[in-house]
Amino acid sequence: MVSRLEDAVLDRQAEPVQWLVGDDKCDCAFQRIGEWGNPYLASTLQIRMCCIWKELSKMFPQFVQEVPVYWDSNQRKPVTTPREWDSEDMDMPLYLWYRQVARMSGQPLAQVRKNLQGQQSRRPRKVPKGTGRESRLPDEPEIRAALLSRMERTGWSPQDWLAACDKRDTEEARKKT
Ligand SMILES: [Zn+2]
Repeated sequence: MVSRLEDAVLDRQAEPVQWLVGDDKCDCAFQRIGEWGNPYLASTLQIRMCCIWKELSKMFPQFVQEVPVYWDSNQRKPVTTPREWDSEDMDMPLYLWYRQVARMSGQPLAQVRKNLQGQQSRRPRKVPKGTGRESRLPDEPEIRAALLSRMERTGWSPQDWLAACDKRDTEEARKKT
């Protein structure tokens, strides 16, 4: 298993297969690389889908939109501020760091990459064990959101349940005061 994307990219630089998601070899915000290999043919086909899509989108701009919002399905709400790095397992991959800085500063990615050249040690590091997203337990809104999703998928109307939750919360709040 690949534990660190960048190690994998570095490892593979000597091999004939050159492309890997996160290799930062294009300016696409979302890198996508299709790969099909077959040992009986001893060959691998790689297609840099993100770059092809970029060219296609120039022909069909009406079918492409990139919005500065992430839909957080755990919280069931839109997020417009990039999340701080919170992995306990790995430092922020360089390709992602460049893109986050570009997103936050509004500068072109190529410019950011150039500005941060040689400053790789400044990228966000992994957080101490027990403090990152891997250790975080879901909070009340997340548990509710997960239950709502399940109820909706199974055809239940969550309205009564939500109303009951609100009533309980109100009563508990009243007891405390
Ligand atoms: Zn690309």
